[in-house]
Amino acid sequence: MRNRKCSGTMSAADKLLVLSHPDCLAHQPVAGHPESPARLQTVLQALQALPELSWRQAPLASRAQLLRAHPADYLAALEQYQAAVAEQPIALDPDTWLGPASLAAARRAAGAVCAGIEQVMQTSVRRVFCAVRPPGHHAERARAMGFCFYSTVAVGALYAVDQYALQRVAVVDFDVHQGNGSEDVLGGHANIHYFASHQVPLYPFADQQVKSRPDNLTYRGLPAGCDSATFRRLWSEQLLPRLDNYQPELLLVSAGFDAHQADPLAQCNLHTDDFGWLTEKLVRIAVRHARGRIVSSLEGGYDLAALAASVVSHAQALQGIHYA
Ligand SMILES: [Zn+2]
Repeated sequence: MRNRKCSGTMSAADKLLVLSHPDCLAHQPVAGHPESPARLQTVLQALQALPELSWRQAPLASRAQLLRAHPADYLAALEQYQAAVAEQPIALDPDTWLGPASLAAARRAAGAVCAGIEQVMQTSVRRVFCAVRPPGHHAERARAMGFCFYSTVAVGALYAVDQYALQRVAVVDFDVHQGNGSEDVLGGHANIHYFASHQVPLYPFADQQVKSRPDNLTYRGLPAGCDSATFRRLWSEQLLPRLDNYQPELLLVSAGFDAHQADPLAQCNLHTDDFGWLTEKLVRIAVRHARGRIVSSLEGGYDLAALAASVVSHAQALQGIHYA
């Protein structure tokens, strides 16, 4: 606990930086959709009640940033769809609705991660949380799906490697759903390793379709009904030691909170403080290898009260230990 600083001595650089933008509230899927603006409103309200956060507006991701993860014809097709929609959103698949404000929101989400990376790489900021929507980890290179248009965290990982010549970027994904989009974009990359747990079987059911995964994708399945002890044991014994051995120079987090027992879209039984527990472990690894640098981005979480409380647990753990 040598590096823990009490809140009374926290400097501006020690504060958790939150990146968000009003555009992320304007994306409106069809009425009744679980990935609603209310999710982010609830998260922002909960974070605003925390002391000692600093806040910045998220920029739009640049075209060059998006092109590292997505081909130009996919980006053009999304823009053509959006140009064709008037007031009502259209379904790109049964889950993924594109409305007039959707791509701006998704570009803010990816832009937030890239800006967060700039902050931790170029300034004394060490921890960033991107309070954004829509989520991103289901968006494949050339396919929008699972509420996602751009592969937000993968865009950031590729940007970090190219912009800062990093050799080892870790992406940690604890969303209850498999990040098939992140895997599609990042699979086989020599300088990025993806560490994840997700419920099996569950949407997007990609496990059954893939015979073998590239070596840089390390994941463990969670059974339906997975409780706190099972989750913590799996991360403690299998995923965290591998992450530690990887010695990441930067940690990016796909922070999905839908493994919570109250979540309506999955069947895991985690509690709010499980997210803080895992986050604290990630902070320790980041302090050990990455000068404390973590950029986390909101993915899933669909029970509003559980989402807000879980984000607070995550954010407080991100604040907890600071690089000295
Ligand atoms: Zn999810």
